[in-house]
Amino acid sequence: MRLLLLGPPGAGKGTQARRLTERLQIPHISTGDMFRQAMAQGTPLGLAAKSYMERGQLVPDDVTIGLVRERLGEADCERGFLLDGFPRTVPQADALGRILGDVGRPLDQAINLEVPEKRLIERAVGRRVCPNCGATYHVVYNPPRLPEICDVCGHPLRQRDDDREETVKRRLEVYYQQTEPLIRYYEEAGLLKNVNGDQDMDSVLEAILLALGNR
Ligand code: ADP
Ligand code: AMP
Repeated sequence: MRLLLLGPPGAGKGTQARRLTERLQIPHISTGDMFRQAMAQGTPLGLAAKSYMERGQLVPDDVTIGLVRERLGEADCERGFLLDGFPRTVPQADALGRILGDVGRPLDQAINLEVPEKRLIERAVGRRVCPNCGATYHVVYNPPRLPEICDVCGHPLRQRDDDREETVKRRLEVYYQQTEPLIRYYEEAGLLKNVNGDQDMDSVLEAILLALGNR
């Protein structure tokens, strides 16, 4: 299956993507994770992305599209993939259509997670991540067993720099301006499924699987 998850920052895309890719046995492609990894390694890509990410802005389309084009060309994507956080602009969506069209493997579905704005801020500000293994928690909705320690690998958790409230608000503005139009874009393409993301994590997963016709 070739899928993508749409939704504002904090909607639960990464949380659901991890569960879905395990269930569907397809790779999880998160451009945000790829940029954060490149930043941690200090690569040229990481340096190019850093200033945009810190300000809650989008990394330029040419950089992001090049990264995804390369990733989708890898062998594990032949059996499908789940894109999380890409596309985020109309030019990125057009480019994705061209990349997939060129190899004759078009997108199957776009899942849009719907969550009210006040919940989004609460979710993003309360998010904690493990810088070692990438696991994600929430201080209230998905707390680790020991405060601020990763259940999986024991590393201390941290808050993402761009999850401070002011930056989250800026990221939401960017979302409404540049990414929300993609809901219409995929609706017009006949590929959109809206899912209520304002329920507990297991119920969201069930709703997505139902939307995919794959329970
Ligand atoms: P996104 O990838 O869309 O930015 P995440 O999946 O990282 O969002 O989720 C943002 C935060 O909200 C995380 O701390 C996560 O644990 C929490 N979260 C995700 N889904 C839910 C849910 N259904 N109910 C409550 N909290 C959630
Ligand atoms: P995320 O982990 O999806 O919340 O993304 C974190 C940050 O990475 C975003 O605020 C952007 O700065 C950058 N980013 C991730 N995906 C994209 C994309 N498709 N286009 C541009 N910037 C992106």
